Amino acid sequence: MIKVGITGGIGSGKSTVCKVFKGLGIPVFEADIVAKQLMTSNPEIRQALIKVFGTAVYLPDGTIDRKYLAGLVFNDESLLAKLNGIVHPVVLKEFNEWCGTKQTPYILHEAAILFESGFYKMMDKIIAVVTDEEERIQRVMKRDGATIELVRQRIQNQMSDAERIKLTDFVISNNDNELIIPQILTIDKKIRAESIYK
Ligand code: ATP
Repeated sequence: MIKVGITGGIGSGKSTVCKVFKGLGIPVFEADIVAKQLMTSNPEIRQALIKVFGTAVYLPDGTIDRKYLAGLVFNDESLLAKLNGIVHPVVLKEFNEWCGTKQTPYILHEAAILFESGFYKMMDKIIAVVTDEEERIQRVMKRDGATIELVRQRIQNQMSDAERIKLTDFVISNNDNELIIPQILTIDKKIRAESIYK
C-alpha cells in the first residue's frame, strides 16, 4: 500500500484537504491528534514525560497540559528533542499497526511536522498544502481566536513553504481564490494509477 504524507504550515488547510480525501474513501492517520491522545493514554509516555518534565505536565484530570509543555520546549531544542524522542517512536508504532488494518489504494499520514520529525522518510509520496502567509494568519486568528503575534511566532518556528516544496511530490494551493477539489482529484488519480490495490 502506498503511504502518502500530507503536510503544510499552520492554517494552510491540511485538515480541510484531508476531509476531501476521506470523502474519496482514503483513510487518514492524523498524527498530531494521535500524538496528543497517546500523551494522555500511553503509560510508557506518561512515565517518561513525568521523569523529564515533572508531574506538572499533567492536569489534575490526568490529561496532558499541552500549553505548559509547549512553553517548556518552545525555546529549548534539547528539551524538544527529548519530547520527540519519547513520543515519536510510539506514534510510529501506532501508525504501522494502523496501516496493517487498511486495504485501500493508498493512505494519508497528516502531520504539521512531517519533515521536522523525519517521518517523511517513511512515506512513498508527499503532498504539501500551501497557502499565502497573510491568509493563514487570518484563518488561524478566526479559527482559534489567536493573536496575530502568536500565529506569526508559530509560523516562524515552522519550516518555510519554499523548503517544504523542495521535498514534495505534489503541491495543493489553497488560497481563497483557488479550488482544491480539482487539484485533489488529479493527485488521487495519479496515486491510484501507481497502486496495486484498486
Ligand atoms: P493546523 O496546522 O493549524 O491544524 P490546518 O493546516 O489543518 O491547520 P485547517 O484547520 O484545515 O488547517 O484550516 C485552517 C482554517 O482555515 C479552518 O478554519 C478552515 O475552515 C479554514 N480554511 C481552510 N481552507 C480554506 C479555504 N480554501 N478558504 C477559506 N477558509 C479555509
